[in-house]
Parts: sequence; C-alpha cells; structure tokens
Amino acid sequence: MPMFIDTSPPGQCIFCRLVAGEIPSARVAEDDLALAFMDLGQVNPGHVLVASKRHAATLFDLTPEEAGAVMRMAQRVALAARTAFDPDGLMLLQANGAVAGQTVGHFHIHVVPRHDGDGIDYTWPRKEPGPAALEAYAQRLRAAL
Ligand SMILES: [Zn+2]
Repeated sequence: MPMFIDTSPPGQCIFCRLVAGEIPSARVAEDDLALAFMDLGQVNPGHVLVASKRHAATLFDLTPEEAGAVMRMAQRVALAARTAFDPDGLMLLQANGAVAGQTVGHFHIHVVPRHDGDGIDYTWPRKEPGPAALEAYAQRLRAAL
C-alpha cells in the first residue's frame, strides 16, 4: 500500500490545490472536467494520475459527464504512455474508499505502464461460489440499477 495519505479537509485536498495551481505538478493534459499529471511516486516511469477537476471524493460522487471525461483522458494518456515509454503492458487502477486502497479522497485513476518483473503485485482471492450465487448476485445488481 502507498505510504502517503492525504488527510486534508474536503475541498482543500491536495488534488484540489493542484488543480487550482496552488501547488506545482508536472501536467500532462487537461480539459474542462479532467486533469492528468505525473504521480510523484512514479511506480514506473510514465505513471500518471487522471483526476476530476471538481472535488468528487470517489467514483460514486462523479457526474456521468465527469466519469466519461476522466476515462477518455485516461485512454489518451495510456496511448501516449505506450508511445513514449514502450511498456510491456499498462494498468489502470482506480480505488474508492480506504479499504480499497484510496489514499487521496479526490477521485483519480492511476495510469501505470507495466514491465515484466517491475515488482507490482496484488492478490486476487477467487471464491468461485457457483452459478446459483452468481445469478443471485446479478439479480441484486439488476434490481439496484
Ligand atoms: Zn479535492
């Protein structure tokens, strides 16, 4: 897990200050709704964060227009990272809530060029509950849509 955790009050968070130009960043791209800038930690060269310009804590707080804008920008940055850094692969990582690994409470997507043996690791604990459970989960989600 990342070592840096932003504990600023909502609306004064590090990404809001960065969007406002109050703190410096290496900007990559921006439009009306989204800003792409270099992650300070650089897990791999070319590691970019794409954030909503408006303070939205998580995915759940974005408007549909903002959600579309940040994903469009993430794809643009991914294409640029592929050209500029020639990675073996590329990962998008987006976390909501501390339990999911979110360390700055302002929506962002990590765009991470990946290389064989780069040391990034995670566990993926498959449960394989079977078709009846899958259908029950799907029914709950359909009812919530
Ligand atoms: Zn913010």
